[in-house]
Amino acid sequence: MKKQFAVIGLGRFGGSICRTLSEEGAEVLAIDMDEDRVNEFTPIATHAVIADSTDESVLKSLGLRNFDHVIVAIGDNLQASILTTLMLKELGVKKVTAKAQNDYHEKVLNKIGADRVAHPERDMGVRVAHNITSSSVLDYLELSHEHSIVEVIAGRKMDGKTLIELDVRANYGVNIVAIKVGGKINVSPRADQTVHSGDILIVIGSDSDIDRFKKQLL
Ligand code: ADP
Repeated sequence: MKKQFAVIGLGRFGGSICRTLSEEGAEVLAIDMDEDRVNEFTPIATHAVIADSTDESVLKSLGLRNFDHVIVAIGDNLQASILTTLMLKELGVKKVTAKAQNDYHEKVLNKIGADRVAHPERDMGVRVAHNITSSSVLDYLELSHEHSIVEVIAGRKMDGKTLIELDVRANYGVNIVAIKVGGKINVSPRADQTVHSGDILIVIGSDSDIDRFKKQLL
């Protein structure tokens, strides 16, 4: 059976989640208290309804407890976001992802049982900063406070060397998990694959090891 998603709040964040899930063929119930927003998503989502998610009877009548994953993407109204998240977890929704506006909001959402808290502005800021400070870093994904995945451009020092010659695992403690060459991605590069300057490497490791790798090899 197809997974069922509900998105509450159809602003920029919730709207783009709703659009992407729908494009991927998922069943999506789109909810907003604003009629114009709901009208905009009527042709996109499986169902779109005007509703106030802080009203518990509304959550019950929409049958949200039976959904696999509910995304609370309410923007500025922290009280509505917190109350909605709390009630969804009390109803027994298996997975609730909530958008946090700031660190305090994130703390509260975690305390009341949100399964995942998204902090899009902060996370995007970190990614853009990594991209600005190091011209070889194309993208950055934080896995934990100490571990990341980075997408970097191979430099001259790596040019013409095979993965076994570079031996980045032994030398830097990082792993090259994929290599992109000319738009094609190889997700399980062999040890004898040669790296050329300009290739894009996807590297996983601790932040300090990645830093050493970047300084010495890129
Ligand atoms: P973003 O920063 O992602 O653009 P917005 O603040 O613009 O977020 O959008 C949040 C959406 O959430 C708005 O469309 C608003 O109408 C909706 N919303 C706010 N409170 C509720 C609520 N209690 N029930 C349903 N929708 C709500």
